[in-house]
Amino acid sequence: MENVKSKVVIITGASSGIGQATALLLGKYGANVVLAARREERIRMIAEQINQAGGSAVYVKTDVASATEMQHLAQHAIARFGKIDVLINNAGIMPLSYLRELKIEEWDSMIDVNIKGALYGIAAVLPTMREQKSGHIITVSSVSGYRVDPTAAVYSATKFAVRAISEGLRQEESPASNIRTTIISPGITATELTDSITSPEVKDWVSEMNQVAISPNSIARAIAFAINEPDDTSINEMIIRPTVQP
Ligand code: NDP
Repeated sequence: MENVKSKVVIITGASSGIGQATALLLGKYGANVVLAARREERIRMIAEQINQAGGSAVYVKTDVASATEMQHLAQHAIARFGKIDVLINNAGIMPLSYLRELKIEEWDSMIDVNIKGALYGIAAVLPTMREQKSGHIITVSSVSGYRVDPTAAVYSATKFAVRAISEGLRQEESPASNIRTTIISPGITATELTDSITSPEVKDWVSEMNQVAISPNSIARAIAFAINEPDDTSINEMIIRPTVQP
């Protein structure tokens, strides 16, 4: 993983699941990892684990739904490492529910974290990447970014949206500024994501589906692969499902 080594990689949602697995893997491959999430103690411990293993990691407590906090995160990465090579817009929530339940606050939260969080991430790093004439913005969408299921209307909408944003970014910035874009779309993965579901009926149904979940390490490996490709090669989209997922 020579092309991962020494890259400065910001990962949002690095306190658990896919973000945590990706931070640990990229840390092992020699990246300078900047971990972001709201649960500070968790990212502190993960950063410590990477540093103790001989890697290089820092952490910044960040709420991705705040444009100001995302700017601060990017500034911290530059102050510490002098550049930003990769942003992984991974933070996300999935409080699934039927539309008829009218969980308006949860709709708002999904839009704030999953869509606005990704946009604020782009806003925080794009000027630097344009100036560098290099960079890589990775967006974690989902299989739900390609299909809609009952209870997932709003969640799917956010995951369709971030795919559109990543493709728009590619069209505008890849030829002009040499910025790579990658959409990572996981299938069912064993993480804490379903903890945010408040609807008991949906929670039961989802935990049954989770029987086939794959490890977040599978998603981390796909992300590492996309980063490690030569800088003139942009892996624009990857779907990673459990083999037995219908
Ligand atoms: P987890 O719940 O384990 O991780 C979600 C991460 O997002 C946590 O680190 C959490 O950190 C962070 N997060 C949530 N809200 C915010 C916020 N406002 N600001 C900053 N960080 C936030 O789930 P996953 O690892 O599964 O989720 C990662 C991504 O993968 C998400 O975008 C999800 O939609 C996507 N995905 C997951 C699938 C799965 O089956 N697990 C399938 C398809 C896509 P903290 O609470 O500390 O802030």
